[in-house]
Order: sequence, then structure tokens, then C-alpha cells
Amino acid sequence: NGFELIGLAPELVQACADLGYLQPTAVQNNVIPKAMLAEGEQRFADLMVSSQTGSGKTAAFLLPVLHTLLQQRADAEAHERAERERLAAEAIARGEAPPKAPKRKDPTSSRNFKAATPGALILCPTRELAQQVANDAIDLVRHCRGLRIANVVGGMPYQLQIARLQNADLVVATPGRLLDLQRSQQLKLDKVQFLVVDEADRMLDLGFADDLAEVNELTSQRRQTMMFSATFAPRIQQLAMRVMHDGGKHVQ
Ligand code: AMP
Repeated sequence: NGFELIGLAPELVQACADLGYLQPTAVQNNVIPKAMLAEGEQRFADLMVSSQTGSGKTAAFLLPVLHTLLQQRADAEAHERAERERLAAEAIARGEAPPKAPKRKDPTSSRNFKAATPGALILCPTRELAQQVANDAIDLVRHCRGLRIANVVGGMPYQLQIARLQNADLVVATPGRLLDLQRSQQLKLDKVQFLVVDEADRMLDLGFADDLAEVNELTSQRRQTMMFSATFAPRIQQLAMRVMHDGGKHVQ
């Protein structure tokens, strides 16, 4: 399986196999390894990708982002476990009972509501595209325990969207509704470490340049950004220069 060779997590390789993806497409082969952190690398590369619909571009950005989210969660869990064991060992050495694990709060209860803080954000120009990308993401995380996807688009009831946003790791959104939720403090963007702008040319055609500039300001400047576009017109280059380090590495 070609996805295994790229070094993707086994949960994701399995999901690809379930979907009948056995070999990466050209854009997947070119993007996925560059989007992941290679041995010894300090920071994730920004990428400017030339891609057509039908090329497999959606999985080209979803797979590396999901891979890194999985890896980070595994690291955080291992760290938490080690910390718990250390505290227990110290307590026992003092002749005390080891501390109990803290109770988890029910995130779906409105009493425990706090603003959602996703680690990854995919921006799409239209509701239809955002829904399709979110569905692809849900297909790809079927073997990933507890990685949560939320879809944020206009036309969906607010309450339902807010409930689904709680604890979301990856949000797929259209810019208008995303910024509405951000302004009403249902959603904070400062934890976003991975930002994908899908169909950047259509995004500009539809007048989202200011919204993209705002998302750029609201997310961490240390994030990884990937832009996908069918064309490389000067206005796309300008946008790339604005939202990516050195305008991003060009990938076909
Ligand atoms: P996209 O360009 O992302 O819209 O994808 C086009 C179609 O290709 C979608 O129906 C995907 O399910 C399918 N697809 C994506 N990657 C692969 C792959 N590696 N092997 C076979 N089909 C794929």
C-alpha cells in the first residue's frame, strides 16, 4: 500500500484501504510527505499547491493534517500518563494513597460550555464544498479513536453547529459563518496550527479576501498554511505572500 510507504499512521492507511485508495494520486504523492514534519525538521512547511478538482487534492491536505493531529494527541496522552505515574510513585514513596484520576467533564452539557478551540481549520469557498470535505474527513477518521470533525457553514441551525463544535479537533468551514461564531465567542482560532485554504481562486472570486486576512490575523503566526488553487494568477500569489512564509513552497 503506497500510503503506508509515505509514513502515514496505520489508522489512516486502513481508512484509505476501506475507501479503495491503494496508491496515492500524483498530488497526494507530492503534497503529503512535504506537509508532514520530517525527521530533524523544526517547523512544518507552508505549501502553495496547484491542483484541479478530481486530482485527489482533498485527501492530499486532509491526510497529513489528520496524521499530525493523531500524533500530537498520542504524545499528549503519553505525557499525561507519565505525569500521573510520577505523581503516584511520589505519593507511594511518602506513604500516601496515589491521587485519583480527575473526573472528565461532560463537554456536551451546556453547564460545561466553553469556546471551541480547534487545532486545524479547512476553509472552503462554498457550503457544498465544505460539506463534501467534511464528509471525506469523517470517512478518513473512521479508525481514529476520538478525533472529531465539525462542519461550520451558513444555513445550518446555530445551536446544532455550536454543539457539534465542542471538542472538535478539525473544523471545515466557509469563512462567513466561521467568523460569525468567532465574533460571538463560540469559537477561538488562536489554537489553530494547521490552516488549509481550498480553492483559493474561487475564494477570491466570491469576495472572501478580507475574511481570509482576518483569519490570518486570528490564527497563530507559527501555524502551517497550505493553499490549493487551480490557477496561479497574480492575485493568488499576493494572497500567498500575505498568509504564508515566503509565499509557500510551490507544489504541483
Ligand atoms: P478530489 O480531487 O479530492 O475531489 O477527489 C476526487 C475523487 O478521487 C474523489 O471521489 C476521491 O474519493 C477519489 N480519490 C482520492 N484519492 C484517491 C486515491 N488515492 N485513489 C483512488 N481514488 C481517490
